[in-house]
This record gives sequence, C-alpha cells and structure tokens, in this order.
Amino acid sequence: MSEQTAEPKDEGKKKRKKKKVKAKGSPAAAPARPTVVEIFSTMEYGPAPETDRVANAWLDAHNRKFDHFIGGEWVAPSGGKYFPSENPGRREPLAEVAEGSPEDVAKAVAAAKAALPGWRALGGHGRARYLYAIARHIQKHHRLFAVVESIDNGKPIRESRDIDVPLVARHFYHHAGWAQLMDDEMRDYVPLGVVGQIIPWNFPLLMLAWKIAPALAMGNTLVLKPAEYTPLTALRFAELCKEIGLPPGVVNILNGDGRTGAALVDHPDVKKIAFTGSTGVGRIIRKATAGSGKKLSLELGGKSPFMVFEDADLDSVVEGVVDAIWFNQGQVCCAGSRILVQESVADALLTKLRARMERLRIGDPLDKAIDIGAIVAPVQLDQIVDLVKLGTDEGATLWQPSWSCPTNGLFYPPTILSDVSPASTVAQVEIFGPVVTFMTFRTPKEAIALANNTRYGLAASVWSENLNLALDVAPKIKAGTVWVNCTNVFDAAAGFGGYRESGYGREGGKEGLYEYVKPRWKEEAHGRPELTPTPSEVGLAAPAEPEDDGPRLPPIDRTTKLYIGGKQRRPDWGYCIDIPDASGATLGQVGRGNRKDIRDAVEAAHAARGWAAGTAHLRAQILYYLAENLAERQSEFEGRLSLMLGNPQAAEREVALSVKRLFTYAAWADKYDGAVHATPLRSVTIAMNEAIGVMGIVCPNRHPLLAFVSLVAPALSTGNSVVVIPSERHPLAATDFYQVMETSDLPPGALNIVTGHREELVPTLSSHDDVDQLWYFGPSEGTEAVELASAGNMKRSWCEHGAARDWTSEREAAGREFLRQSTHVKNIWVPYGE
Ligand code: NDP
Repeated sequence: MSEQTAEPKDEGKKKRKKKKVKAKGSPAAAPARPTVVEIFSTMEYGPAPETDRVANAWLDAHNRKFDHFIGGEWVAPSGGKYFPSENPGRREPLAEVAEGSPEDVAKAVAAAKAALPGWRALGGHGRARYLYAIARHIQKHHRLFAVVESIDNGKPIRESRDIDVPLVARHFYHHAGWAQLMDDEMRDYVPLGVVGQIIPWNFPLLMLAWKIAPALAMGNTLVLKPAEYTPLTALRFAELCKEIGLPPGVVNILNGDGRTGAALVDHPDVKKIAFTGSTGVGRIIRKATAGSGKKLSLELGGKSPFMVFEDADLDSVVEGVVDAIWFNQGQVCCAGSRILVQESVADALLTKLRARMERLRIGDPLDKAIDIGAIVAPVQLDQIVDLVKLGTDEGATLWQPSWSCPTNGLFYPPTILSDVSPASTVAQVEIFGPVVTFMTFRTPKEAIALANNTRYGLAASVWSENLNLALDVAPKIKAGTVWVNCTNVFDAAAGFGGYRESGYGREGGKEGLYEYVKPRWKEEAHGRPELTPTPSEVGLAAPAEPEDDGPRLPPIDRTTKLYIGGKQRRPDWGYCIDIPDASGATLGQVGRGNRKDIRDAVEAAHAARGWAAGTAHLRAQILYYLAENLAERQSEFEGRLSLMLGNPQAAEREVALSVKRLFTYAAWADKYDGAVHATPLRSVTIAMNEAIGVMGIVCPNRHPLLAFVSLVAPALSTGNSVVVIPSERHPLAATDFYQVMETSDLPPGALNIVTGHREELVPTLSSHDDVDQLWYFGPSEGTEAVELASAGNMKRSWCEHGAARDWTSEREAAGREFLRQSTHVKNIWVPYGE
C-alpha cells in the first residue's frame, strides 16, 4: 500500500489566476522517447502525443484574446477587463477572456430578445436546418474542438475526442429532429422567450450542447455563460454559429465568473434559467428567481452509488469502476463515487481494483495513451486533497497506487477510501475528484438503504448478472438515472437529471423539451387577470331573501376537523375558524391547523408510501370509487357549494366537473406510460414515470371543490401521497370531501387535509424537508416565499404565474401537464448482448 499524495498545492484557494498571458503555449519539454526495442522489452506504452498545433494557431488567430459574442459579433467588455484561461495539464496560460458586467448582460439579453420573433417565425423546419448545420460543422471541426477542450479543461484527449465531441454532435442532430417535429409533437406548447444558461467546467462543450440544442429547437433564443475555467470551446462554438449563418442574436456567449452568472439570473427579460453546477449555487439561483415567474431547471451535484451484488462479473465491475470514478478525473456530477459491494465479494473486488489502479496511466491530457488527465484548477485540487485528509482523519483507510504523478500539472492519483462509515463526510460530500469510497452490505435491502442514504439523487449503477434483481433494485433507488451493468452512459434521446438535492428538470429526450416551452393556452390567455382573486372577489352574492315558512329550527351543529392519516383529527392547538357563506353569514367552522398538524400530516403521508408501490389498476379503481361516491352525494354537495358560492348553477357545474375529473385521472392511472428510448447503444433504455413522493398542495380560493379535485386527483393517480391545504375561503368543500374518501377505500395517509390560514400553514409545508414537491396555487404574492423556502431541500415547486387558469377548462386544468408535474422520469439503461 502506498500513501503517496498528489502534486503541489499551488496558489491555494485563489480562484482567479492573475497570470499574464504570454505568447503561446508551447509543449512542455518533450520526454526522451524510448526506442522500439525498449518498448518491446518492457511492454511500456510509448508517448502518443496529439498535436496542439492547430489549436494554438486558432488561439493565435484571435491574438489569444476573446470578447463576448453578442448579436453575432465580438463585443469588447464594457468594463474593459479580461481574465486568463490556463492549461491545467501544463500550467501554461492559454488566452485572455472578456469579463462580463451587468451592462454586457443587458446587451446580450437585448440581442437575444431582438432575435426572438424572427427565430420563432422561422418555424420548426427552418430551425431544424440550422441545428443540422451546427451538428455537421461540429463533426467537420471535431478534432479542433477536442484538442481545445483537453488543453482548457485537462481531460484526456481520448475522452474529449471519443466521448464528449461525438455526443455534442449527436445532441444537435437529435434536436434538429425535435425542431422538425415540434409543430406536430409539441403542438400545444410555445417557446418561453429569452433563456439564460449557465454551465460548469467539467464538460464545457457537452453541457453547452445539452443547453443550447433543446432551447433552439423549441424556438427560444439564448445567452449562455460558460465557466470561467473553461470558456474556449464555447467561443469556438460562437464562431461556428457565425460560420453557418445563424441569425445574429439567436445564440449569445457571455464570458465571466459567478457575478456575470448572477446578473444573467437577475435580468427581468430572461424567462428561464437552465443551470448545471454545484448544489450551493443552484440554491442561490432558486432563491434569486423566487417569485419572478422564471422557469428553472437545475442539474446539480451527486454522490452516486455504484452497487455490486455478489453474482456480478467482477472483471466487468473493475472496468465499470474505472469509467465511474476515473473518467474525467472523477469531476463528473454522476460519478459513481460510492462503491457499495456485497460482503462476500468485497475482498476479491478490492484486490482486483488495486491491481487495475496500478496500471492506470496519468499524465498530459494530450497523450492518447493516458487514462487520467489533470484536475481543472488549483482550487479544485485543494478541495480534493482537503477532503481526502478529512476522510483519513475520520478513520478511512486510504489506498493509492505506488507510482507518482507528474509534477508539471494539476494531477491527483486514483484513490480508494475504505473502512468508511455511511455518515462520514467522504461518504456524504461530493469530492469531485478521482476518489471513491468503498463500503459493504449484506442484503439487497441494506444495499438500497445505503444507496439512498444521501441528500442527492442523480444516478446509480447496479451490477448483477441477475437481471430480475437489478430491475427490482433500480426503481427503488431515488435517482434520475440507473445504469444496469454499465455506467456513465449518455445519449441525446434519453433524459438526464436528478431527484432531491441533485436538482430538477431533465435534459435530453422528449422529457427535456418541456423545460423550454410553456402551454400554448398561457400565451393565448395573456392579459387575463392575475391568477388568484382576492377573497372579496370570490363568488360573493347578495344575501338570500329570508323565506317565510314559519319558525325555523337551528341546524344541527357540524364539526369539521382536519383529516390526517385516514382519521378526522382535532387541530393541535384547539382553535377553529368561522367560515362565511356567500352572503357573509356563518356557514360553519373548520379547524385552524398549525405547523404541528402539517408535520403530522407529512408523517402520515410518508407512512402511506405503499400507495405508490400498489398497482396502477388499484389506484384507478379507487379514483373511480371516489367519483362514484361523490356522484351519489351530488345534491348534498351542490347545496353546500351553492351556499358557499351564492350561485346554484355554478355549484351544480362544480360537482359535475369534479366527478368528471376524477374519472379523467382514474382513466390516466394505468395509461401515463413511460417510453423505451431509441438510444444508439445496444441497450434497452427504459424511461419510467415515477411518483415524486410526498406532495404538498395549496389550493386556490376559487372553485373550492373543482380545483381541489383537479389538483389532488393527478397527484394520487400517479402514486404520490398528498398533504393539501384547501381553499382558505371555502374549506368546507374539501372537508365535506373526506366523508367521500372514508367510503372509497383510499388508504390512510394517501390524502391528508389541513385547513386553516395559509400564512400559518404554507411556510411549514414549503420548508419541510420531507416534502418532495410543492404545488402552490394560492395568491401570487405568496409565490416568492414558497419558492424561497423550497430551496432548503431543493424540492420541486410548481407555482403559477401570469394568466389565471380556467379550472372549468379541460385544456387548462386537466391532463398531461398535471401528470408531468406529478412525476419524475427515471431512465434505466440495460445493455444487452454477449
Ligand atoms: P459552481 O456551481 O460555482 O459553477 C457552475 C457555474 O455557475 C459556473 O459557470 C459559475 O461561474 C456559475 N456561477 C457561480 N456562482 C454563480 C451565481 N451566484 N449565480 C449564477 N451563476 C454562478 O461550481 P464550481 O465551479 O465553483 O465548483 C464547485 C463545486 O461544485 C465542485 O467542486 C463540485 O463539487 C461542484 N460542481 C458540480 C458540477 C455538476 O455538474 N454537478 C459541475 C461543477 C462543479 P464561474 O465558474 O465562472 O465562477
């Protein structure tokens, strides 16, 4: 065993490198070449350097100085500042790049806005032609892109040449197809407008493709900010946009650091932010956009499990580990950074892994025969060194191969940390380097518990020759992608994205397109009054004339309670609220729930997780049963709603549509199918629609029964358990409904109702760490607080902004939009063949 560590700590945590850019990056002193005879006698690899001549000529042609790309032109930064970009494999300066200011952001967004009408009017086929041209040009300049990527990022040329750039081209081809098909396949959707995109440094060109291709295909224009460490391939891409004659302003590339990104996030004309990077910055962006109505997709960090069962082919597993954690130096959001291995084969696997690690080759990224390249920047190398030290301080056993890393670049050796406890820092925190933890389990159940013991949920890899076992395990892992007997496989046809603190939204596949569109009705309804009317606007009518039919007996007092865990429950603090009818007279009282009631309801919802595990057929049966029982009590509901709304016709319609909507989601329960994606690999790639988990739903005041049913039914239909805060103004419609639930076999805890004042309940629901998704249809003033609070555990939130939804409309208030918001797409990759 060796305890050798990596090369020097350089400038410490200083992020911005102030080095002056000199003429050109000439190669480091060439190593003495072994003779052929020597190579044959040792069987060592000879050097196989890729030339950087063409890349250097390209940099020189730009005088190693790059401006922003705005409106189809190179535009100097308004502040006149530039920052250096360095080759981490040789510690040499490459170029200087413009630093974006808020003024530059404004210019870029204005250019994108000006280009929007023309780009949209071009239509799907016109856009498809441009995307196709981009794909073709990427292929034509394939090698230049690969070399520039490797010298800027430090990744092995083998990876940039054979993985990154081909996937980039594939992404543009695939999305040329979606542009072509948009009018047909996405006919109920329209583009969002100007999109802001912020990408990290680990896959600079690939992340650019994942962002730009779907945005353009769906008719948006955009401003993209590359990471400050790795701006160069994005700038070559800008040039390519000019070469193919892309209309000016459709793609704008703005350089800069986090402050430039923050200014882009804040710009009022940006309608959506697509971000890939750390969970910390994702949280900042969630907070910055809260209440703004900007659409958001976040692809964040991960701590993905790599699960090895005892019947796995261990030699394949070893190669899988190489791809999982040493690919791209482990700087991969979905890196398999936690090996979980069944106890019976743990020692055998560790022995094989160590032998393989001894033979891994680390070195100059442009050497075609190396496996591991350079870490992107000093600050990242320091982070790896610090975290590994913390791991050994916490008791982990470190193993690294006996060879030494080169000393002329930012290198860190492949590393295994064993004897790691599940709660230790290195088992929980994203190290983002070539470091993997090694833990054991005894049973599949324990393996699943360990795999899910993380706040992240980006990916997982399951190794077993028993496909029945692997396919049983895959849906139980809380992660957006599960690879069976493979790892780190990507394709444009399959969506990629996270659960939990790994973010939300998908990139790739049809599922990824929805991140760049909005329902067509939203555009058509533009100018309708804002979403939720104030209580005074809701159904108030003149007081009814007293009827002269003799002395009247007082009605029998009805006590409505909360409904938690399948039981009627008094509110925790024993208060109730008077609920007026349409005339202002008291119609009844409801319990005044508090944060304890919300917490109890969330706990009850968690206990009902069997609802998701049950069959879709069963969920359909129960939704039909709810409809049947509601129809049975139609006149009673109509009467109560008529008193609430002061409008008998509206009440009648409300009940009839609620029954219909329950039928709709009973029908959908076993029909909201996933897909099998047509990826080019020899693999069945299954896209499964999975329940999100525990959902919080806040209902609007308007349509107290219909909106309640329209929101709750799709959530239940797809297998979620729900905590609902009904209409604050007319909660009795929902509390009457629990009597329907009690006669309809809905399992306890699947649907929980907490009545009360929104301002007392919503903060607890939206900040609760065990709520996985929140739908908020309350007053629009409340959206900001809800979205801010959701950043705590990065729960998905669906808050409505803009035009009010017509709850009586099938188009606006039922169907796929609701089903999509109720589910995650999980992609499971199962390769086949001998
Ligand atoms: P960041 O999340 O900071 O960077 C990602 C992108 O966001 C970059 O373009 C960055 O700009 C930009 N950015 C930074 N701050 C803001 C802000 N406030 N508003 C808008 N944009 C912003 O990642 P780092 O590069 O700092 O890496 C830190 C850690 O994050 C890594 O060690 C790793 O753990 C994780 N990470 C995860 C990635 C993933 O794919 N999941 C990718 C990269 C990192 P700039 O870089 O120019 O400052």
